[in-house]
Amino acid sequence: MNYNSKKDIINIIHNDNYKSVETAKELTEKLEKEGFIVSDTYDYKAKLNICIGGDGAFLRAVHNYGFPDIPFVGVNTGHLGFFQEISPDNLNDFVKSYVNGDYILEEIYLVEASICTRTSCIELIGVNEIVIKGIESKVIHLNVSIADNYLERFSGDGVIISTPTGSTAYNFSAGGSIIFPTLQVLQITPLAPISSKVYRSLTTSAIVHNDMTIKINPEYRDENSILIVVDGIQHKYDNIVEINLTMSDMTINKLTLNPNSFWSNLKDKFI
Ligand code: NAP
Repeated sequence: MNYNSKKDIINIIHNDNYKSVETAKELTEKLEKEGFIVSDTYDYKAKLNICIGGDGAFLRAVHNYGFPDIPFVGVNTGHLGFFQEISPDNLNDFVKSYVNGDYILEEIYLVEASICTRTSCIELIGVNEIVIKGIESKVIHLNVSIADNYLERFSGDGVIISTPTGSTAYNFSAGGSIIFPTLQVLQITPLAPISSKVYRSLTTSAIVHNDMTIKINPEYRDENSILIVVDGIQHKYDNIVEINLTMSDMTINKLTLNPNSFWSNLKDKFI
């Protein structure tokens, strides 16, 4: 138990839909009644970030506020809300648990890419995944190595490099495995791999240990045909020669009220 001080600042971040705005008002009242200082503009001295919306709203908040150390908890007013643990009907229980310190903090592992063009390297970080795909629906050819071992010349739509958290997102739709969130691994999942007499690509995903780097070298003719998509946000660079993907040293903290809820949540939201 780690009781929270009533004078702590709490950020409430919400999207503009009616349900989120109403939930934010209700939660602000409840927290202020307990003595917390609620900020609706982002305060970097806050003790907690409460993100109201769906998983998409949570992803945008993490990116917009620069992967902060302040833990996140989510209230689901969105569509799926796989991350978003609190229901708008359960605000009283949440406030009570938070006041009593009745929760744990879980680390969310992130994926990091170093994208090297002929002139410089750029770093990008994703919560769910980093996708490497062709522009304008082109087939791309990627030379893939893992831990300095050459694996394959991939041909197809692209590859997803997913975190454990992202394993239930795009990765899952592309046939990748669901990974328990505390496992420190990345997953490389093919998007429409071509496996024919002309091209030979792995058709299943592979799970990669967190101390291994996934290296991707686009073929020369594809250097200008690559899109990098980080948690749904597109980035385009010319002359990409190499992309190195690893698990980031940085993590995000998520406040969890029920640590044993992953499998029941999965069943509720997906089956
Ligand atoms: P978005 O509309 O924000 O999200 C698409 C759907 O993915 C929403 O239903 C969202 O839940 C859900 N989602 C996001 N993260 C999830 C997670 N970790 N586990 C389970 N479901 C999750 O779409 P976007 O802005 O383009 O991109 C955001 C994310 O969408 C990406 O990171 C990617 O993983 C996913 N995506 C999926 C596909 C696909 O499945 N074919 C294609 C592109 C992107 P909420 O409804 O609660 O927001």
